[in-house]
Amino acid sequence: MKVQDLQAIQQLLSTPKKIAIIPHRNPDGDAMGSTLGLYHFLLKNKHFPIVVSPNEFPDFLAWLPGSETVKIYEKDKKKCTKVLEEAEIIFTLDFNALHRVGEMEKALNTLKAPFVMIDHHQSPDNYATVTYSDIALGSTCEMLYHFISLLGKKSQIDKIIGTCIYTGILTDSGSFRFPKTTGTTHRIIADLIDLGVENSEIPKLLFDNSSFDRLQLLGRALQNMKVLADHQTAYTTLTQEELDSFNHIKGDTEGIVNYGLSIKGIVFTAIFIENTEEKLIKISFRSQGNFDVNSFARDHFNGGGHQNAAGGKSEASMEETVKKFEDLVSQIKL
Ligand code: 5GP
Ligand code: MN
Repeated sequence: MKVQDLQAIQQLLSTPKKIAIIPHRNPDGDAMGSTLGLYHFLLKNKHFPIVVSPNEFPDFLAWLPGSETVKIYEKDKKKCTKVLEEAEIIFTLDFNALHRVGEMEKALNTLKAPFVMIDHHQSPDNYATVTYSDIALGSTCEMLYHFISLLGKKSQIDKIIGTCIYTGILTDSGSFRFPKTTGTTHRIIADLIDLGVENSEIPKLLFDNSSFDRLQLLGRALQNMKVLADHQTAYTTLTQEELDSFNHIKGDTEGIVNYGLSIKGIVFTAIFIENTEEKLIKISFRSQGNFDVNSFARDHFNGGGHQNAAGGKSEASMEETVKKFEDLVSQIKL
């Protein structure tokens, strides 16, 4: 972070403030971990923070400390709008463009308070007064650890803040496997474990609390998988009907996209998930190595993300969307 940005934040935080903290729509472990980690840190520093999520967070994150205080914009627009309007600082975490909050964007656009962005996605938009962006880091939670350290308050990171930070680092790094995982990442994790963060318990809470329905849904997605071996690509689909037949709840499809990459020789994988209510197909892309799914998602599916993990959407039917994808894959050189 630039010295003047750090000073600007120190100035902003020098007296107790009402602060809104915002994750992206459909928040994941890193979005919830970083916003709640920052929430506990600000609380400890006599501020009045509130996390306002654009929509509901998945059940498997409901054990995170402080999640019960999170306000959901989609469920209570009036109250959330009041919180946003009264806020003296707006922190936006784990996203790089305001449209990532969905319809809450309109409310954010009217606010006069200074915005602070903390995020690790490529090509951050220029909406914040202070932008702390580092695309070399694997998670916003790892950035939060550095952010607190840069403020000279590392010693305030306790078991609760550490638990939030641990969760985002763990989930965004694919359990410490993805290439952005560094020695520093592991040193931070070591520090967090020394603070009492339950490193053996947290993965169980996140990954070993599946319902039978969710496992069956995964089975269906694996059955639906198609391999385009000549192009080192695998993809799968889930229709709304399939989701409904397994009583799908939020978060059930999380992580399914990664299975494609576990096939030997596959370097590019995608999952297409139908959402009839929103009249679109939500797409997740993952790659291994040099193939840039961020550009692929931006160029062809109205999305973005990172080099090896990105998302996008399509308003065409499932059939047309998959056809477009197959045509594109047949043209690209991986
Ligand atoms: P996921 O596939 O897990 O939804 O998202 C993978 C990565 O891509 C995440 O970092 C997420 O923030 C980003 N991402 C997902 N969907 C979109 C999208 O529609 N637009 C942009 N710009 N990024 C996305
Ligand atoms: Mn993230």
